[in-house]
Amino acid sequence: MFENVVEDANAVSIPPEWIDPDALARSLPAPMVFVDLETTGGNALEDRITEIGVVEVGPHGIEQWSTLLDPAEPIPPFIQKLTGITNEMVRGQPSFDTLAQGLAERLHGKLFVAHNARFDYGFLKNEFRRAGIGFQADVLCTVRLSRLLFPSAARHGLDALIARFGLAPQGRHRALADADLLWQFWQKLHTLYTPDLIGQAVQRVTKRSSQPPQLPDEAIDALPASPGVYLFYGEGDTLLYVGKSVDVRARVRSHFSSDHQVAKDLRISQEIRRVEVRRTVGELGALLLESQLVKQLQPVHNRMLRRSASLYSWQLTQESDTPQLVSAKTVDFSGAESLYGTFSSRNGAESALRALADEHRLCCAQLGLEKVAKGRPCFGYQVKRCDGVCVGAAPLSEHTQRMREALATLRLETWPYDGPIAIQEHGDNDVEYHVIDRWQYLGSVASRDALDALVDNMPAATGFDPDIYRLLRRRLAALRAAQSTAPAPLTMLHLTRPAFRLSQVERPDAAPRKPRSVALLRRRQPRPEDPDQLRLPFDVR
Ligand SMILES: [Zn+2]
Repeated sequence: MFENVVEDANAVSIPPEWIDPDALARSLPAPMVFVDLETTGGNALEDRITEIGVVEVGPHGIEQWSTLLDPAEPIPPFIQKLTGITNEMVRGQPSFDTLAQGLAERLHGKLFVAHNARFDYGFLKNEFRRAGIGFQADVLCTVRLSRLLFPSAARHGLDALIARFGLAPQGRHRALADADLLWQFWQKLHTLYTPDLIGQAVQRVTKRSSQPPQLPDEAIDALPASPGVYLFYGEGDTLLYVGKSVDVRARVRSHFSSDHQVAKDLRISQEIRRVEVRRTVGELGALLLESQLVKQLQPVHNRMLRRSASLYSWQLTQESDTPQLVSAKTVDFSGAESLYGTFSSRNGAESALRALADEHRLCCAQLGLEKVAKGRPCFGYQVKRCDGVCVGAAPLSEHTQRMREALATLRLETWPYDGPIAIQEHGDNDVEYHVIDRWQYLGSVASRDALDALVDNMPAATGFDPDIYRLLRRRLAALRAAQSTAPAPLTMLHLTRPAFRLSQVERPDAAPRKPRSVALLRRRQPRPEDPDQLRLPFDVR
């Protein structure tokens, strides 16, 4: 793909054979800093910087800057030999700390260019963090740039570039000399390719600064690549955000990658100080825990899952021709018959019903949405959107029938079990039991024994939870359908997604002499097809 671009570009314009460095610097669309570091070793967390070299290039011209640093730790002999920087040379030199502020200003807002840039950028970020400065830059790695522009070349190390392009080293393995080689490489590119094409290549390999400045890269690397819930904390341990994923590490990374960056992620990236993870066995456990934590902890940047204070639904009993608005404060949504939809406000409930009326030519007066005197036409009748049940021009029974059909899609399913259930979810090696009662999530545990303990101390379900209802209704229906038609369990095993099994636990029928918990766990009489033996696909949204 890109190779074609290269050919096309060469076909239309011929780059110059010689470049004037000053003219090139002044023509750059944005200032750049070519950076090289010498260090006491290869570990950005433990080792320290001994020398910084910077070639700054931009509209103001070209400027070079370099300094030795006292790393406050000995330089291993082989590194002293490689760089020629000895312990004696760095003794008494400034510490990074004392230079940090000035260096941050020097680098600020410029494209950070380095060879194996991850190394230099990582070292600098860590040193800046120790100095209390959050450092962030767009990073261009010249190894990646070389690979992209010269795909047939086998080697892309600095020595290879020197040899291939006839660069003129002022020294080797010293910071400023190596930084200058990168600047020479950059000039050389402009004798081979047009600025347009180089610009495209730079776009392709530049890593936009999106890493949270106050969070070590290693903190994200250390996250598990498995299901769970992650919590982002900011200054003063404020909870910023709670999220879930089947691959926590990849999801957290994507929050801070330029590809997916949205305004909220940018703000979180600036504020985040640490990440906490609660592992789950699979996706369902992560969904349930996320829903629970968001409601409990009310993170600053979560909006969707917050539980609203009030909850409404339309109730339409068998005998009635007009739906009534009911509140979860007075009606048990998990057990009441003939409820349609859940809404967080009266207004929301009314506009949803009005939309249905429009779509299905229902009468707003008959629905109770419009106050008119009995026998007077509703607004819709006058604009021919109501068939006239309000003025007796259409039969009420037919209207009621259509109203029921229109509402059917919103119908709430009452809790289909005698009592709480545990959903058994299988992960790669573990199992988890999620306890649900009346569309309310009561907790998860890792073993049957712990399940006993949980049920022993289980709080009574206090109310219908619309999130849990949304998460589980179809999954549970799928489980029940599979149990009643009893397909051979093996036919479902080809699915590699996490499967879970349903265990039903019953309430005592009558005269519960035993403690409630023991009775709760008593199993039903096993059916010919033991539900425990059924493995079912995870119903992915
Ligand atoms: Zn009408």
